[in-house]
Amino acid sequence: MIYNDTIAAISTAPGVGGIGIIRVSGMDAIQIVDEVFKGVSKKTLQESPSHTIHYGHIVNKEGKVIDEVLVMLMKAPKTFTREDVVEINCHGGPVPLEAVLMEVIRKGARLADSGEFTKRAFLNGRIDLAQVEAIMDIIEAKTEVSLSQAVNQLEGKLSKQIKEYQDTLIQIIARIEVSIDYPEYDEDEPLANDFVDEIKALNDQLKKLLATADTGKMIREGIKTAIVGQPNVGKSSLLNALLEENKAIVTDIPGTTRDVVEAYLNIDGMPFVLLDTAGIRETEDIVEKIGVERSKESIEKADLVLMLIDSSRALDEEELNIINELTNKTVIFVLNKIDLHSVITQEILEQYTKGQPIIQISAMKQNGLDTLRQAMKQFIVKQGISIGQEATISNQRQKQSLVKAIESLDKVEDTIDIGMPEDCIAIDLHDAYGHLGNIVGEALKDEIIGELFSRFCLGK
Ligand code: GDP
Ligand code: ZN
Repeated sequence: MIYNDTIAAISTAPGVGGIGIIRVSGMDAIQIVDEVFKGVSKKTLQESPSHTIHYGHIVNKEGKVIDEVLVMLMKAPKTFTREDVVEINCHGGPVPLEAVLMEVIRKGARLADSGEFTKRAFLNGRIDLAQVEAIMDIIEAKTEVSLSQAVNQLEGKLSKQIKEYQDTLIQIIARIEVSIDYPEYDEDEPLANDFVDEIKALNDQLKKLLATADTGKMIREGIKTAIVGQPNVGKSSLLNALLEENKAIVTDIPGTTRDVVEAYLNIDGMPFVLLDTAGIRETEDIVEKIGVERSKESIEKADLVLMLIDSSRALDEEELNIINELTNKTVIFVLNKIDLHSVITQEILEQYTKGQPIIQISAMKQNGLDTLRQAMKQFIVKQGISIGQEATISNQRQKQSLVKAIESLDKVEDTIDIGMPEDCIAIDLHDAYGHLGNIVGEALKDEIIGELFSRFCLGK
């Protein structure tokens, strides 16, 4: 796609250091920058080779120097947008940065909308939609692991996988369509039977990919970890100890943590979102009851539960009730306050934990926290989350398209089972192909594209 306008924006975050970059992209990008840039070299940018750096100054219409700059010249098509791109690295801080941008706009560039550079890259076929989303994920990545997942996707792991599935489908579709067009081609045997195994195998692969959606989401957004237990067992103390800061208020009045406190924790690059819930307890106190409801909600939403127990006092019935509610969850039992005289030992607790791990700690004395962190990391290993090995589905939009593709293939399998004619199969195969295409953004509606790019910040 060729645009006849040239866009420009500040592409670095505002207010960070003295250096900022102005990105200019489009047909007239080079000519526009030539008009405001006085380089040390005799050659204009137009005359210079692509992918070179030029030192000089940006001057205004009176010929006055605005800023000392380095200009990166990148000629189409080997650029991010596949258009001519010039990046001006300014050194003078926010005021000259704005002034340089104004000069570029005065010479005919238009201020870019949010995400417009990425949108051009997408519409010019430089990247696909899964990669667009990866760029957003990279900007928002919580930890190194989240980042590496996003980078994988940007490199096209998912896109490549989807293309392979589409290729397989196209071959099946082509053969089926031949049999529809030339029914005499093989009359004795219904042709579809040839493809049953191939379609099943493909559908199985799609289902496998779908299974990565939950882990993909966890890596992207953080593993939701609920810290639960009776009031006063040390939930807030543990949260603070893990975060090494005073995020939650620690008190010895039972039930003080009334709201859920949320915080990010990075364990060797693995992202966790910790949720400190109010003590789970049947209660008449209305304020506390709201908190109790919230903590049940957070258990439900949690990927991982840290069930905290005070080792210095006996288990009560309510605690046993909570433990029973945790049956479908991955739980780490945390026996706290081991610095005190212990009433509950590991052996006693083991009778209730159904083989789930028990870690002994003192949140107050900061003992056992490393072991707990290792156990939390172990959760990731058990989930079979492998970073960088395979393509993963990492957001809801991709997931929904994949689910629809699987539904279409399920229908195909059913149709074959009941012996319907081939043309019925072909329609569903085409549908499956289309849904797969949506993952990488083939034939997407303009509104969806508009909505997506508006979520970017300016200059990207
Ligand atoms: P929460 O209600 O579960 O959030 O419990 P808090 O974190 O507010 O702690 C309740 C009380 O137990 C506070 O007085 C803490 O100082 C104390 N506490 C927490 N952890 C420990 C521990 O490991 N050892 C001892 N001795 N006291 C602790
Ligand atoms: Zn608390």
